[in-house]
Amino acid sequence: MSRPPVIGLLGGGQLGRMLCEAAGPLGYHVAVLDEDGCPAKQVNGSDKHVCGSFKDAAKVRELAARCDVLTVEIEHVNADVLEDIAVRGVPSASGELRKVPVHPSWRTLRLVQDKYEQKEHLRANGIPVASQMALDGGELLAVSLGHAYHRLAFPFMVKARKGSYDGRGNFKVSGPDDFEAAIDALGALPLYAEKWVPFAMELAVMVIRTEDDDGECTGVYSYPAVETVHEDDVCKTVLMPPRKVDAAVCDNAQRVAEQVVRSLWGRGVFAVEMFLLQDGTIMVNEVAPRPHNSGHYTIEAVPYMSQYKAQLCAILDIVPKSLRLTPRVAQAAMANILGGANPDSHDKLVGLAETEYIDGTDIYLHLYGKASKPGRKIGHITFTTPSPDVDLLRTIGPFINQIDAIRQ
Ligand code: ATP
Ligand code: MG
Ligand code: MG
Repeated sequence: MSRPPVIGLLGGGQLGRMLCEAAGPLGYHVAVLDEDGCPAKQVNGSDKHVCGSFKDAAKVRELAARCDVLTVEIEHVNADVLEDIAVRGVPSASGELRKVPVHPSWRTLRLVQDKYEQKEHLRANGIPVASQMALDGGELLAVSLGHAYHRLAFPFMVKARKGSYDGRGNFKVSGPDDFEAAIDALGALPLYAEKWVPFAMELAVMVIRTEDDDGECTGVYSYPAVETVHEDDVCKTVLMPPRKVDAAVCDNAQRVAEQVVRSLWGRGVFAVEMFLLQDGTIMVNEVAPRPHNSGHYTIEAVPYMSQYKAQLCAILDIVPKSLRLTPRVAQAAMANILGGANPDSHDKLVGLAETEYIDGTDIYLHLYGKASKPGRKIGHITFTTPSPDVDLLRTIGPFINQIDAIRQ
């Protein structure tokens, strides 16, 4: 690998932007495949960037030819091309094929892209997941929904198997009257049904996975469990630690997440989204093999190894063996800035984050350089405090009020 190594990144949104921000001080060169002017390219000049779509096989090969290793900021990429690049290679200057490692592995990407297959894999590995059933498409869908009711009972969730995010491919079915609306909303896509989980809370754990050159897992390192609060299926806030959850439950969430990540392939950081049930047990919702919204707080709370630095260290295989991911603050809260009805709907919130000073609580504003659209993630604010005792959510109440006002 050349020094400094050139890391090729598929996708240049906010996760890619924050990855580039972590790479800068370390002297790593990140070449981004996405449109010019995307959030990641705005903060990272490079003569190795490729302009185009990360879904375009020719562009992915062009990027690979310029890089030492490839990684992703999004799982909805072409796994077949990545397999070919990692296993067969891309032509080098001399015309010979040069293999370019892909982390996380194309095998993981291919698996998690299909949420139904992902859960089947987790169940086969002894990880608790909700009961699910593949649904037939076309004219058979209505009958298949009836079968889902017999297998899963109402309510259940109809989910798109592929390509969804922020709950956009999900539809809750509470009774037969909802069948038609579910078919109208999602009927054109490959679907599955998932039993409704009456969770007490949602948790997430970020895990770093290291691997040797033979593909053997050499370590998993988990960050603390966080509470993720969703509104309309979109993450609103992330709280570290979770509210009123026993340390033993948080520990268990970390162990389950580590088990999930051990069962996958490749190096990098992985987010494990989980449901915490009323009885204190954990069920896994889904895995994202990349930095994640629920890990933004690590930039300030675990500054020596944020999830972004961890992604870089993992794919370059330089994670310290004795690494412990202990937060440097007692509490952190992350609040997403979602676009509102107007392009300036979030201005007041941003103004507050720019000018407010709260003694004992640090406020960190992140804007992603994205045009505002209703419901679009355009930034986030992280709050940290060294005090375990302050009611952090109450302290940041004026910010939460502004966030709620944007949604009105
Ligand atoms: P992401 O942006 O996290 O990738 P996604 O589109 O893949 O989202 P899911 O994670 O499947 O969607 O679901 C989004 C949210 O919907 C979950 O965080 C949870 O709040 C709710 N949800 C999903 N599945 C269930 C379920 N089986 N029972 C109850 N609530 C659910
Ligand atoms: Mg998802
Ligand atoms: Mg999710």
